[in-house]
Formats: sequence, C-alpha cells, structure tokens
Amino acid sequence: MKLYAPSTIRQIKDKYGFRLSKSLGQNFLTDKNIIDKIMEESFIGKEDLVIEIGPGIGVLTAEEAALAGKVIAVEIDKNLIPILKDTLADYDNVKVVNQDILKTDLNQLIEENNTIEGKPVRSVRIIGNLPYYITTPIVMKILEEGAKVDSITIMMQKEVADRMKAAAGKKAYGALSVAVQYYCTVNHVANVPKEVFVPQPKVDSTVIRLDIRQEKPVDLKDEKIFFQCIKAGFGQRRKTMSNSLTGVCGLSKEQVGQVLEAIGIDGGRRAETMSIEEFAQLANQVYCTIR
Ligand code: SAM
Repeated sequence: MKLYAPSTIRQIKDKYGFRLSKSLGQNFLTDKNIIDKIMEESFIGKEDLVIEIGPGIGVLTAEEAALAGKVIAVEIDKNLIPILKDTLADYDNVKVVNQDILKTDLNQLIEENNTIEGKPVRSVRIIGNLPYYITTPIVMKILEEGAKVDSITIMMQKEVADRMKAAAGKKAYGALSVAVQYYCTVNHVANVPKEVFVPQPKVDSTVIRLDIRQEKPVDLKDEKIFFQCIKAGFGQRRKTMSNSLTGVCGLSKEQVGQVLEAIGIDGGRRAETMSIEEFAQLANQVYCTIR
C-alpha cells in the first residue's frame, strides 16, 4: 500500500471513519521524494533505534522500520492506533505508543529499548513531522532534558527552521538560534512546499537535522546564567545590552557597565549582534562578578 498517496488517506478515512484533527496538527505528507530525502539524511542503520514523534498513518514509520533495528512511534491520537496496527502490520520491529510526547520520559523510553537483538543500540535518532504549534517546546524539551539521542530530524514551519539556523546578525537570529546551536549543529535537509500535505496547511515547511554536539561549543561556568543573559538580551529586542542586562542576577546598571567593559563589549550593542561566544564570555563575567 502506498501510504503517501492521497487516495490511501481517503480510503483510510472511509474504512475507519477517521476524521483528521486540526487541533492535533494532522497534515499528512504525500510526497515520496521528500520522504526519501528525510530517510537518506537521517542516516538510519540496522543498529539504530528510531523514535518517531507523531506517526499519523505511518507514512514515515514504514520507511524507518525498513531501515532501522527498532522503531518506537509515539502518537497522541488514540484513533490512529488501530490504523497504525494495520498499516505497519508487515514490520515486527515497530512499537506504537499512545502517548503525548510532551509528557513522555524520553530517557526512560530509550533505556527500555536500548538493545537490538541483544546488542546495544548504536545511535538513537528522533524523527518527526510535528504540529507547528509544539515544534519549539518539543525540541527544547529534548535538548534541555539532555535526552540521550544522537540526532533529531524534524519537519517544521519554515520560519521556525530559519530561526534555528540563523547566525548572529541575521534577521531571524534570536534566543532560539543561540539555544539550539548551543546544543546542536543545524543541517538543512529539504524545503517542503505546503502543496504536498493533505490537508494543505497555510505555510511552507523545512526539514532540518539537529546533530547533538558531543562537546558544547563554549565553556560555561554556569549554564543557567548563560540562558538568563540570552533571555534578558532578546527579551526586548529594541533595548541595548546595557539596558536589558540590568537586573540579571541582581546586577545594577553600574555593574553591568563594568561587566561589559571587562569583556570589551560595547553596551550600546543589541542582542541580535551577539555571537554565542560573546554570550558565553558575558555569562562567565557575570558569574565572576556575583560570586
Ligand atoms: N508523520 C505523519 C506524516 O508525516 O504524514 C503525520 C504528521 S502530522 C503533521 C503530526 C502528527 O503528530 C499527527 O499524527 C498528530 O496526531 C501527532 N501529534 C500531535 N501532537 C502530538 C503529541 N503531543 N505527541 C505525540 N503525537 C502528537
């Protein structure tokens, strides 16, 4: 069965009386070339565990099952569970879990599935075509919780992918760019026009692959202060660094001036011009000042 064919989606809806849920972001992918590209760029091997977020009717899941050692597909919609049982019946290496990914303990899930035919899993790869409104919370949950995964290949609204990829000085650069790039390297996989989904969403998508860094790009004395500086810096984009940092970790305006002077950063600069290295320098200097 060609799961990606729009006629299959129609047949499934008729057979199971399934109704697509707008609130769960159910826009199903119907382009085989894009599916192939996602598989190719996810570098799935037989020793790998794939965790798919939101399998829908299983269009990506079936391809993952053919390539991976084991696939765990986490789907929130209970109405899709019997459908997935049928569409994935040919694969004995897929487990479907009816759960909300935002409430799932990923490390526990990985721990419970950390062997394939008695051998330890080589890599853990997360794949998902996510509902737009939960893309950022899901990605940040995976990164901040330190889930033991190697890569995350995800389809998301183009604008969100642009923000994750953006370098300092670019229009799309913001707190999300710094946070994601602190944890990962960001790789472009594919541009996906809205016409290839059923039903068609309002916006185009992009697939990116986040490779989790084995070593962070900067040395931090305190990660919490780093993220506090980023949040404050980008909190009010119009403000200068000197103004937006006042109050962070209880620093007075005068102390902020001293911190910036000590690391040679002009207080009149705005956060969107600050590189990840500069935010790290700043956070480390704040740490030394308040200790
Ligand atoms: N992977 C399929 C595809 O590419 O055609 C479906 C993608 S559709 C954009 C998003 C899927 O995520 C839907 O199946 C939806 O029910 C599921 N979903 C939405 N919120 C979820 C959550 N919090 N946890 C797990 N799955 C979720």
